[in-house]
Amino acid sequence: MEYQLKRLRRSGSIKIRVEADGQVGVTAPAYVPKLLIERFVKTNETWVKRQQARVRLHREVQPVFDWEQKVVSYLGRLYKIRIMNQESRIMVKPKEITVSPVTGLGKDAKKMLVTWLKREGEREIRERSASWARLMQVTPGPLRFRQQKSRWGSCSHKNHLSFNWRLIHFKPAVIDYVVIHELAHIQHHDHSLKFWQLVEQFDPSYQQQRTFLRKRQLSLLKS
Ligand SMILES: [Zn+2]
Repeated sequence: MEYQLKRLRRSGSIKIRVEADGQVGVTAPAYVPKLLIERFVKTNETWVKRQQARVRLHREVQPVFDWEQKVVSYLGRLYKIRIMNQESRIMVKPKEITVSPVTGLGKDAKKMLVTWLKREGEREIRERSASWARLMQVTPGPLRFRQQKSRWGSCSHKNHLSFNWRLIHFKPAVIDYVVIHELAHIQHHDHSLKFWQLVEQFDPSYQQQRTFLRKRQLSLLKS
């Protein structure tokens, strides 16, 4: 196992910790031989692995939209939200999204940003559905958009498709998976082997996106 060793003259014992980024740090008194440190790390390996898994999970399920912390995820990238006092508009910059409501009020900025995210979500999903439908040679009925707590998309028996516009928070590969999934239901109105084979044909890494979305459900409930 890799770790960063820091020698401290004053410390009385060997200590190990897992940082927020999953790195392992070990501090040890200057006189303790390397062999003992190695042994200490080895005995704590299970604990370290468990901590690292926890850190990873925490990082993965960070909220997609946190107004208090002023962060929002847009197409899989995290942006800082900045409220400005200019003309009424929203701008996407490399690291931040600036929101400028006419009133300059925070609550209006939030409303404005949500409306914008919703419109962006609809646009992305519409465009992607149109091109995947062509490739998959299926004809979907009208598209509808909702904000559901636990569903990303659905396909009715009449092939009307519904999508969760909150997909806008995730990277395009994830949006594509949900679109492909619902379009595949036009051919197979079930989750049979044939259905999954069709999904895989157009999205070979679909398993990855499924796992990702399952983990994300929790964080969506909060925002
Ligand atoms: Zn399904």
